[in-house]
Amino acid sequence: MIIIMSPQATEEEIEAVTNEVARIGFRPFTNPGVERKVIAVLGELDVRKADLVEHFQAMPGVARVELISDLWKLASRQYHPENSIVRVRNVEIGGRDVVVAAGPCSVENEAQTIEIACRVKAAGAKMLRGGAFKPRTSPYSFQGLGEEGLKILAKAREETGLPVVTEVMDTHEVDLVCKYADVLQIGTRNMQNYALLKRVGASGRPVLLKRGLGSKIKDLLMSAEYIISEGNHQVILCERGITTFEDATRHTTDINAIPVLKNWTHLPVMLDPSHATGAWQYVGAVAKAAVAAGADGLLIEVHNDPQHAMSDGPQSLRPDKFAELMRQLSRVAQAVDRYI
Ligand code: PEP
Ligand code: MN
Repeated sequence: MIIIMSPQATEEEIEAVTNEVARIGFRPFTNPGVERKVIAVLGELDVRKADLVEHFQAMPGVARVELISDLWKLASRQYHPENSIVRVRNVEIGGRDVVVAAGPCSVENEAQTIEIACRVKAAGAKMLRGGAFKPRTSPYSFQGLGEEGLKILAKAREETGLPVVTEVMDTHEVDLVCKYADVLQIGTRNMQNYALLKRVGASGRPVLLKRGLGSKIKDLLMSAEYIISEGNHQVILCERGITTFEDATRHTTDINAIPVLKNWTHLPVMLDPSHATGAWQYVGAVAKAAVAAGADGLLIEVHNDPQHAMSDGPQSLRPDKFAELMRQLSRVAQAVDRYI
């Protein structure tokens, strides 16, 4: 349920409504980013719904009370009809520009990371991606450089000015990753790690939330809800391919997810064509389809020597191929009134 205060409502009236929500056992939640004063009432409304609507409707300063039928209350467009824009340093995600974050799957060493960062920046990428904590299927595979990797990412940001997106896998590492990263990535395998979602919610740092391999769009939104309900509205959703019976590609891109998410939620939506396809040959086509379908951004793996990459070489674009793709993406973006 949301309580929409009238534009003339006084601070006292807003406070009285907020206190009343808490008094009767619900959690009042206000979004500082929303201009009109909207108070969300969080908790199980159950059978008391109709009475509560009437109760708050009668309070001074209240314009109207609306029920939100979506289960993802704060992520819903019913709660926040305008697109949300997530600001990361000088980059805005969810506005007119389509934002491309590019870089290696894993941070391997300083020279590699800085070289790739410079190349993707020159091609028009607005953020640098790279993993320091890697969720690998095998415990014997390269697990990432940890804090050393984070330091390298920070150095690459210093050199290029590109904000850094990097994964955090464990609640105990959130503070450490926050020291270096601009955006905390929650990987597909952790989409329903609720303790981690709450912890990154409490961090207040922008979060890139990747869809689980076998998760429905609705589950992705419920996970976003965990982050927002901790007071962190800076959530970017990311479709990265799901598991289906099809095995011609690593995963199956759910292109439908883009328009569905744009319809159901105000949050920005990105797509990762690298993990979705698992093969560099298909990355460009799927990236272009995503921009045409309305994605607010892309997450693309780029490596200067894919054959020797420590992870995900087969799906990594070489910098020159990435630059060529960016030129094409810019024309696709223009066709749908966006800009790259
Ligand atoms: C990644 O972006 O490097 C990654 C591990 O992605 P995902 O969690 O989508 O597999
Ligand atoms: Mn990867």
